[in-house]
Amino acid sequence: MSVIVSNLQAVQARLAAAEKAAGRTNGSVRLLAVSKTWPLASVLEAADAGQQAFGENYVQEAVEKAMATVDRHLEWHFIGPLQSNKTRLVAEHFAWVHSVDRLKIAERLAAQRPAHLPPLQICIQVNVSGEASKSGCAPADTLALCQAVAALPGLRLRGLMAIPEPTDDLAAQRAPFRQLRELQAAVCAAGIPLDTLSMGMSHDLEAAVAEGATIVRIGTAIFGERNYA
Ligand SMILES: *Cc1c(COP(=O)(O)O)cnc(C)c1O
Repeated sequence: MSVIVSNLQAVQARLAAAEKAAGRTNGSVRLLAVSKTWPLASVLEAADAGQQAFGENYVQEAVEKAMATVDRHLEWHFIGPLQSNKTRLVAEHFAWVHSVDRLKIAERLAAQRPAHLPPLQICIQVNVSGEASKSGCAPADTLALCQAVAALPGLRLRGLMAIPEPTDDLAAQRAPFRQLRELQAAVCAAGIPLDTLSMGMSHDLEAAVAEGATIVRIGTAIFGERNYA
């Protein structure tokens, strides 16, 4: 068995154990395999083992992989920072975008989503306490952004996403995930239904599942350490 396939099985087992520990239904958390920096061959190995959804951060790299695998019907998720001049490629080639953090980007994606494709599934990235990246909308601005995005054609608002600062302490890992879950509940209470919490990476998937993640985004634990050089 290849390293990727055995890693994938180990991550699936971790996910199942985390669901069980949290009293959640088996299979209720979706596994997004984050393949950024890895070659097409790595994607195909995971796909051959049954992995369906892949996450990417860099538009050009992702579009090449998506175009090379159209016959495989994989599901491509854009999870990285998104600049205005790259929205068209994302609108044309992805099923999901997890990293919308301002209205201008959502408006461009809505205008550029081809009419023959299903709506682009959207998560709003929120800068919860201790967010490692500088992107993400402020918690206080999240409801207004959700209301505006929910009104756009060509998009379907699904939920919220966050990337907390890495820490080894389980309680510290859970706090920002809980904050995101509470924010989701507040948006739902205001009449905007959200069914998705995109949170949890290789080092903190257990904490994210305990706090209600519905999609975990796992790169290193499946493909190995990335080399950006
Ligand atoms: C790279 C990346 C991941 C995967 O992180 P790992 O620690 O390798 O599992 C998840 N989410 C986002 C937004 C990323 O950029």
